[in-house]
Amino acid sequence: MPFDPNVLRRDFPILKKKFSASGKESDKQIPLVYLDNASATHKPRQVMDAVKNYYEESNSNVHRAIHKLGEKATYLYEESRKKIAGFINAESANEIIFTRGATESINLAASSWGRKFLVDGDEIILSEMEHHSNLIPWQQLSIELGVKLKFIPFLENGTLDLSKLESLFSDRTRLVAVTQMSNVFGTINNVKEIIRFSHSRNVSVFLDGAQSVSHIPVDVKDLDCDFLAASGHKMCGPTGIGFLYVKRKWLDQMPPYQFGGEMIGSVWLDRAEWAEIPYKFEAGTPNVAGAIGLGSAIDYLSKIGMKNIHEYEIKLTAYAREKLKEISDLKIFGNPPEQGGVLSFYLGKIHPHDVGQFLDNEGIAVRAGHHCAQPLMRKLAVPATVRASFYFYNTHEEIDKLVEGIIKVRKFFNHGI
Ligand code: PLP
Repeated sequence: MPFDPNVLRRDFPILKKKFSASGKESDKQIPLVYLDNASATHKPRQVMDAVKNYYEESNSNVHRAIHKLGEKATYLYEESRKKIAGFINAESANEIIFTRGATESINLAASSWGRKFLVDGDEIILSEMEHHSNLIPWQQLSIELGVKLKFIPFLENGTLDLSKLESLFSDRTRLVAVTQMSNVFGTINNVKEIIRFSHSRNVSVFLDGAQSVSHIPVDVKDLDCDFLAASGHKMCGPTGIGFLYVKRKWLDQMPPYQFGGEMIGSVWLDRAEWAEIPYKFEAGTPNVAGAIGLGSAIDYLSKIGMKNIHEYEIKLTAYAREKLKEISDLKIFGNPPEQGGVLSFYLGKIHPHDVGQFLDNEGIAVRAGHHCAQPLMRKLAVPATVRASFYFYNTHEEIDKLVEGIIKVRKFFNHGI
């Protein structure tokens, strides 16, 4: 079936909803233009049905019960793990650890791998464009262990300055942890080159895939990354579920991250042995419904095709950039050659929060803020930006509405046009 966002939109009940500026049902109802997909995407009916069906037909805990419901729940949960492995082309489903999302995935790696393999004086290379989730866990580790952090700078066009990469390496470099796609500029970073170079120095690479996995084809075998983190809610799945991919060679050596039920092999009063991988990293009852929903989201995305999604978003973003450029005083941050569906901008001297609030009253949902990237904002010398972020269900008409909305914002704040 040819790719058609208007057909796909029919799967998303929330996209049919209308809202009033005041929130009162008696006021004029306007359609929703949702352009905050880098924060969270909407869910198709298929994903909601998968979660509902689990609760209605197989609700039970996993891995423990020998009854039929428990077997069914375990089967569905493990099928989802296999689907994730297939989606990112992992060698085996055992390389996939279910987590609450990208943030927990990064904390898991920092806590488990970091504490096991890093010592005082070692170095980690991050970038200046990291989301706080891929900064603070490493920052805290550096404070605790005496590990030094170094940063790949970004250039004005929103790309990483890889000409600086070599100079950041030393014989104490142990890890490079970078985002595959920036949540502020939309830059798709050349992580393949970063991984190639790092591995040539025997240095491991952690990829924050929170933005990339939902928008571009990601193949961990082809990339050869050591770790990859992602969140379900950014890829049509439920909230509170995500995963960490860990290359097999690390898994056996990494200690558990949390302790309790589900993650043990045998327990005595004074000691315990751990379960097999990946279960030793999944302490306690997991988010079974979330994992099943994520499996269904992966089925949904795979049916559309990640290549189709990426190609469509390239066109949509180019269209948005051209249209926004026509608005005087509007400054788009970054213009990377490889970009996903994210545009951050500033409108004259109008505070991004005012722009966001005004647009919301017009039925247009964008993000206004620091986007959990305060060091990046500081380098841009702005407190915040407005961010419009797209997904495969957004249309060119919605971009037109965004542009009309921004023109109204300018007029309202007396800037003329
Ligand atoms: N990394 C990036 C690049 C992000 O954009 C986000 C969320 O916006 C995260 C990490 C954290 O994801 P989550 O809040 O789902 O854990």
